[in-house]
Amino acid sequence: MQPKVNILFIEDERNILTFVRKLLYGHNYKVTTAITGTEGLQLINSICPDLILLDLGLPDMDGQTIIRQVREWSDCPIIVISARTNEHEKVKALDLGADYYITKPFGSAELLARIRTSLRHSTRMNSSSDQLFHPYKCGELILDFEKRTLTISGNIVHLTPIEYKILVFLAQNCGKVMTYSSIINNVWGPYADDNNRILRVNMTNIRRKIEKNPADPQYIFTEVGVGYRMSEEHC
Ligand code: CA
Repeated sequence: MQPKVNILFIEDERNILTFVRKLLYGHNYKVTTAITGTEGLQLINSICPDLILLDLGLPDMDGQTIIRQVREWSDCPIIVISARTNEHEKVKALDLGADYYITKPFGSAELLARIRTSLRHSTRMNSSSDQLFHPYKCGELILDFEKRTLTISGNIVHLTPIEYKILVFLAQNCGKVMTYSSIINNVWGPYADDNNRILRVNMTNIRRKIEKNPADPQYIFTEVGVGYRMSEEHC
């Protein structure tokens, strides 16, 4: 029997704690809970969970502090569950290293889907490099990292080197919203001008090349004020 996936939930609202704990038990996850940030950080160190669910408004500290501290030494997936809906909070949490941001109130299906995707990502990142470089496939689109080609329905799509780098970064993080500054950092380097204009121009060009209808995209979605998300792989 495979060991159960161990999820740590840091949250001070009892109702949500109870609801999520029941939900996760019902789906065969092991759940540990903490109601303060201090307790949460101690548990992260002692039990090394497979995934962390994190509220931001905790009684003794801000959840953003926890993300920052955990990311100094761990890649453990972090899903933020927060009542804060403003873009600034989302961008900050994602830039600090959270994998997903779910706003309250949320549905069971959404939470379970995010948990599954995060666990899949972390297994892939920890497995061999050829798995990491297997082509990204979504519908008719195939991005082959080894051949450095993009095809749609078997036809090569010509990309500039920058467009290719943006697509690779989004595809390797598919399903996750990547913030504007994380994309800029990855593609143009840490000293690049943190100005979204050039990124937006490139995204427009990429969409013109890959989307049938750029106004109703199939592959790359915009989260306004936060960043871009590439569709999860499916054949
Ligand atoms: Ca709270």
